[in-house]
Amino acid sequence: MSTLLTDRVWVMLSEVAKRGVYPLHASRLGLYRIPIDLTSNTEITQVANEMKKLGFSVDTYADRIYITYKWTEEEFDQMEQKRLKANLSIMVEIVTGEVVDIIYQIKPLEYFGDHYWIKNYRTKADQNAKMILDTILLNTKIGDKLIAHYQKANKLSFEDAVKKLQDLSPLAKSPKNRLAGPPNTETSPQISESKAQSIAGSEQKQLEAPPSPQMSAAGSGNTTISLTGDGTSYSKVEGPIDPDFKSKRSVVGTFQGIKVWGDVDAPGRLGIWGSEVTVDFDICVADGACIEACPVNVFEWLDTPGHPASEKKPFMIREKDCIFCMACENVCPPQCVKIFNKG
Ligand code: SF4
Ligand code: SF4
Repeated sequence: MSTLLTDRVWVMLSEVAKRGVYPLHASRLGLYRIPIDLTSNTEITQVANEMKKLGFSVDTYADRIYITYKWTEEEFDQMEQKRLKANLSIMVEIVTGEVVDIIYQIKPLEYFGDHYWIKNYRTKADQNAKMILDTILLNTKIGDKLIAHYQKANKLSFEDAVKKLQDLSPLAKSPKNRLAGPPNTETSPQISESKAQSIAGSEQKQLEAPPSPQMSAAGSGNTTISLTGDGTSYSKVEGPIDPDFKSKRSVVGTFQGIKVWGDVDAPGRLGIWGSEVTVDFDICVADGACIEACPVNVFEWLDTPGHPASEKKPFMIREKDCIFCMACENVCPPQCVKIFNKG
């Protein structure tokens, strides 16, 4: 990492905290440190070419690779009675070396012109940057090295190391299937401009949850939900959250006063949490977008070790503070947040 940045940003050494975005003057900046080396010119060129093949604009300079994603915003302006259009972009920089740093900076909207009418620019730019990051992690030589690193450092099988990498990169476009054959190149890295936040969820089908032994056993809304147990034979559930879950599920208990809707069979099945600010914990991949988006600090992380989708969840402990701005619902990549207005 550039020494110019070291005193201005918090260097994230933990991969589970990799999705932070931090203020830097008028812009916002995200920084990831990947614990692998990328030093040979051959490997650097390989990473650049892999991203080019996926449709990104790629430049290289010295030990850096610059990957740019461009998108267009359009809206019909009622006052001017004409269609407004803006071309936007976000660039992610890979700093190669003994460790790999991946950096992105969100430029102010004014950098692209006077596009006052664009909504949620920062959220979209942030999501697009994360999509580039996840694509780098999952689809390139950097992913190969990360898998080898996990096998060695965490003593994982190849399959478990691949799963760990996949869990870390839910937004990757054209995800490479490392367990079965060549990469899927059918999907373009394009993200819908108006729906950057629904990247992962829109193409996915909700999986049917296996029956839970604890739903009937718990049965009562007075039960205190435990995060430990022996319900480990579950796999990750795909989004979106069922918007009608309140008529289909029952409250099986509470956790620090927050309602929990079954099925619950901890630690592998945790159900849907909350009354007005609701999150399907079985879908949540813990990227932290909701926590980052919430203007009134409703959420805090809750450790959920052993859950197949992610080992921490955004707990709506200050649910009563919610101002119903919908930001968390709109930014959640797997669409597992649902806000219900009071009353
Ligand atoms: S709706 Fe807004 S205020 Fe309420 S939890 Fe979500 S982000 Fe926070
Ligand atoms: S609820 Fe959605 S936005 Fe929040 S951490 Fe989970 S996956 Fe991310």
